[in-house]
Amino acid sequence: MLKGVQGVICDWAGTMVDFGSLSPVAAFKEAFERYGFEVSFEEIRTFMGMLKFEHTKAILALAKERFLKQFGRYPTEEDARAIYHSFEPALFDSLAHYSKPIRGAVQFAEVLKQRGIQLGSTTGYTCSMMEVVTHEAAKEGYRPDCYVSPSAYLPGRPHPFMIYKNAIELEIYPLSSIIKIGDTISDIHEGLNAGCWSIGVAMSGNELGLSYEEMEALPKELLSEKCALARKRLYDAGAHYVIDGIWEALPLLEIINEKIIQGEKPCLIGFARV
Ligand SMILES: [Mg+2]
Repeated sequence: MLKGVQGVICDWAGTMVDFGSLSPVAAFKEAFERYGFEVSFEEIRTFMGMLKFEHTKAILALAKERFLKQFGRYPTEEDARAIYHSFEPALFDSLAHYSKPIRGAVQFAEVLKQRGIQLGSTTGYTCSMMEVVTHEAAKEGYRPDCYVSPSAYLPGRPHPFMIYKNAIELEIYPLSSIIKIGDTISDIHEGLNAGCWSIGVAMSGNELGLSYEEMEALPKELLSEKCALARKRLYDAGAHYVIDGIWEALPLLEIINEKIIQGEKPCLIGFARV
């Protein structure tokens, strides 16, 4: 008989910690403001999940016509570097404050451990940012078996290499027995590009983009409208399943586990998206 799920690889901000993925958004807003160039929260959130320097360049590329109007030229790599230079300290200032586990994250990790399923993780944060995040999350009881950051030698999302590295470190295979869970479009593409089951979280992360308090304060109808849109964006990106948050992951684990045992593989809707 085939074995079921061998591993789950979770994103960090907006998926397991930092409800609403607020920390990087606030830091980007501040860094662009310091450079004298206004960007919207929506522009920032479009590229969430990528390595943060790549993310800076992507925002500038998106807003390049506005940049041209303001500065009389298109943005360059130098501009991106200068903005990123103030992004890093702004992020470090807020990172510890935004690293609390999201409801259900610690319990989900415990169940995986009891069942002998490995828990890996990938992120758009650099190694030094992750030192802060993992330290704070561990204080609250969340400690995955492995985490991988993008670097000069390991391209980040939407490439699949961070998932491959998790698989190697955790000694798990095949990739079709691994579930990837994340809150952004680039998370979904990363999972698909790796040949894993790719799951989106709609409510706790970047796609809804609200703090827990802001979400609670929304009128019920407006909230369900916004959630439906967030779900649609993740499904349109190719997600096999979308849940509200990690607190809903256990029933899904059972469903996918059964499919794997029956020999089913994740279909490659939208594979090789870069
Ligand atoms: Mg995230």
